[in-house]
Amino acid sequence: MQLYIHIPFCRKKCRYCDFASYPGREADMPSYLDALLREAVMQAEILGRPTLETVFIGGGTPSLLPPNSLARLLREARRLFAISPDAEITSEANPGAITPEWLTAATEGGVNRLSLGMQAVQPELLRTLGRIHTAEETAASVRMARAHGIRNISLDLMFGLPGQTLAQWRETLNAALALEPQHLSCYGLIPEEGTPLYHDLIAGHLTLPDDGAERAMYDEALTLLERHGFRQYEISNFALPGFACRHNLGYWLQTPYLGLGASAASCLPDAGHPHSAYVRTANPAGLDAYLDMVTQQNWSLRETTPISPTEARFETLMLGLRTAQGVSEKDFLLSHGVSLSECYGAKLSMFRDQGLLIDENSHWRLTRRGMDVQNAILVELMDDKAD
Ligand code: SF4
Repeated sequence: MQLYIHIPFCRKKCRYCDFASYPGREADMPSYLDALLREAVMQAEILGRPTLETVFIGGGTPSLLPPNSLARLLREARRLFAISPDAEITSEANPGAITPEWLTAATEGGVNRLSLGMQAVQPELLRTLGRIHTAEETAASVRMARAHGIRNISLDLMFGLPGQTLAQWRETLNAALALEPQHLSCYGLIPEEGTPLYHDLIAGHLTLPDDGAERAMYDEALTLLERHGFRQYEISNFALPGFACRHNLGYWLQTPYLGLGASAASCLPDAGHPHSAYVRTANPAGLDAYLDMVTQQNWSLRETTPISPTEARFETLMLGLRTAQGVSEKDFLLSHGVSLSECYGAKLSMFRDQGLLIDENSHWRLTRRGMDVQNAILVELMDDKAD
């Protein structure tokens, strides 16, 4: 099983962000930590102290937690769950909000992987995004993490930014590679409705690169990262051999996961829903709503979605097609008791004939051209998901 812990505090809201993150609420950290641990106690009891293969502390900005709070969180996680001796334990961190004391607490508590939000190196692009750090601070954070013994470092980068040129994106990629990370995530900007950045775009104050320019940036990442020994193991994720993120791979391979904290989602088998393959639940996203739910022990405030066997089959296909290894015919049959070709054979063959999918060694995966139109492919396949 996998564990995700959400820390919803940030120093300042980035201009593109619609995650559950709340600047200016640092005073609520102690009560939030208490609530997280109460939720953890309850879940560990229900699930029978499961063994965790991965733990991911995300946010928000986990590196804003006071070191003693982080230490307590990691200590309690170890007491309540059985953490596998070779577990991957990741924490996200913001280069503008990380200290040696926090890193000491993280590594002493078992964190062995750090994911830093670098995003870009140009001051004007970082300003457009509303990030609180500079490129130099990112480089200093990487050095600090290494000095604390963290050998597995991931950097998040963004392309398709307003005003961003291909040359700037190349400069960001090269700056990231110069920091010698083991893992890189490259995400195209998706302007989320309601964010300040979205309003600036709608008002015409900012302009996005066109589709062709954005595709050229993605292609640049594929070429440059491959040249530096990185393997693309998912549409947006690249790793040196042996450093693919196990936690993220678990999501795509449908490993059960438990999420703790505001907005955190869980996906677990549930005996209470005998006709479902599994059940997905989501905690309230608002900080106050989450605190209320835990203090009042009103777990019915969670959003619960039973996933039918038909939906589960489609999810296997949808998530598997994001990965480089693709969807295994054998694993599909083992998981669902029905063959992939029985469910989706005609459409898969059609997309293969169009050069959008490859069928190799009984695994189906997207071609480079297929990646560009993956959403259209999935919409077509969704129509085919009926029993
Ligand atoms: S640091 Fe991350 S979570 Fe916090 S506001 Fe920025 S994008 Fe959102």
